[in-house]
Amino acid sequence: MVKTIKDDQPRTYFDCNKCPAFCCTIYERVQVTKRDITRLAKHFGVSYETARRRFTKQWEDERVLKKVKDKIFPVTCIFLDQDKRGCTVYHARPNVCREFPDRVRCPYYDMLQFERRQQADDTVLPLVQITFREVKETNGNGNGEKVWEWEPEKKKKRKK
Ligand code: SF4
Ligand code: SF4
Repeated sequence: MVKTIKDDQPRTYFDCNKCPAFCCTIYERVQVTKRDITRLAKHFGVSYETARRRFTKQWEDERVLKKVKDKIFPVTCIFLDQDKRGCTVYHARPNVCREFPDRVRCPYYDMLQFERRQQADDTVLPLVQITFREVKETNGNGNGEKVWEWEPEKKKKRKK
């Protein structure tokens, strides 16, 4: 059974307040359902259509949250406070955000802590990028070095 972490449960193994919000930035899309849009519309006191148009966009056959340019990563969720690195619609955030990371540890938080310990520097910030492309070995560059190239995107996957 999948265990969902609720707002009032302590997150023993990760602390979102000490994270630059990898999960709000590195995924290509944050999927929203009609129910999510209705919740956002209520939160902002606007109509469903206004919320849908203002905060979401179409991505293939999904409705997703819009993204904006970020101060740290290339882009981030429209609702992220870029200075505090927290969600500005926390109680109205989409379901997919509520469920993430769906386990008691967050791999991005672990990675952040690992790298900061490794470098003995609390300011180190790994810039994570997700890709769904595959790499293949090419004929090389003539120097005997292995050369890898990105394969064209093969399949789409869900965010979060
Ligand atoms: S990446 Fe993990 S620790 Fe960071 S904000 Fe998201 S859930 Fe929290
Ligand atoms: S709605 Fe909030 S929790 Fe979800 S991706 Fe955007 S900023 Fe992060």
